[in-house]
Amino acid sequence: MSTVIDGKSLARTLRSRIKQAVSELQVEHNVVPGLAVVLVGEDPASQVYVRSKARQTVEVGMQSFEHRLSDNTSEGNLVQLVEELNQKMEVNGILVQLPLPGQINAERIINTISANKDVDGFHVENTGRLSIGADSLIPCTPAGCLMLLKHAVGDLSGQNAIILGRSNIVGKPVAQLLLQEHCTVTIAHSRTRDLPSICRQADIVIAAVGIPEMVKGDWIKPGATVIDVGINRITDESENGKLVGDVDHASVSEVAGAITPVPGGVGPMTIACLLQNTIIATCRQRQIKIPEAIS
Ligand code: NDP
Repeated sequence: MSTVIDGKSLARTLRSRIKQAVSELQVEHNVVPGLAVVLVGEDPASQVYVRSKARQTVEVGMQSFEHRLSDNTSEGNLVQLVEELNQKMEVNGILVQLPLPGQINAERIINTISANKDVDGFHVENTGRLSIGADSLIPCTPAGCLMLLKHAVGDLSGQNAIILGRSNIVGKPVAQLLLQEHCTVTIAHSRTRDLPSICRQADIVIAAVGIPEMVKGDWIKPGATVIDVGINRITDESENGKLVGDVDHASVSEVAGAITPVPGGVGPMTIACLLQNTIIATCRQRQIKIPEAIS
């Protein structure tokens, strides 16, 4: 049986370091980092995420600003709100919850956020800087995956890693981060041929496809480390709304050396990394050294 990589516990540790960093900023610089979260519409999953982000922001001692707009908000109105938030000194990080309703061009909104307040790390300037290895705000889920991997594996140099999925928010930034850690990286996607046999060569498997339990035990090299990014709600009556990942946990945990659970793996790390990004953004805006607790 494989070791379970406990994302909840690692996220708790990171949040306590973040709390320490926030208090240091307040005491030494009289600065309280502020995170603004914008939610458009009534998507139930987004509402849960936004509530959870706001609660954790306050718990670590930062300021939380919530903006809720109706489903039929125009792109122009949202651009105007983001531009106002860009100007506010007390707002150090801005997150517009995705997905956005169809009338709004998400790319335009993301790139309207000031790059130095883009705590989701999706602005084209941050993605470009990440790809050349320059300082940037790193997308939260990929940053969380990297922390979980380092916790489980230690030095990643020379490891063969496969990333299943090439989205801009997970697959591609994870690939950039693992390249920076000197992994040999393969990115697979829906057109990849013979995925199971490519997967079996990997020391590290990151699954981010959005297909419930796609990755099976016989795809995995014995002893490999598996990070399951997927969050899929199975709506079968028999399953009663159970959350599962993109990895078939039962069969994969028989073969892998270590594996993240769903829930309780990547998910908790994502919000903790968002809070960490808000501190990093604050320090860069104010030209303050990033507190040691999180550096
Ligand atoms: P996207 O739908 O944007 O991307 C899915 C990727 O998977 C695409 O690149 C697609 O390939 C690839 N893919 C689809 N089918 C297959 C297949 N049969 N074989 C190989 N690759 C395939 O998803 P996201 O990246 O946004 O999310 C992925 C998963 O991660 C979802 O379950 C999501 O809920 C979860 N997630 C979890 C987060 C967390 O905090 N834990 C945060 C963000 C996402 P192609 O490009 O060819 O279409």
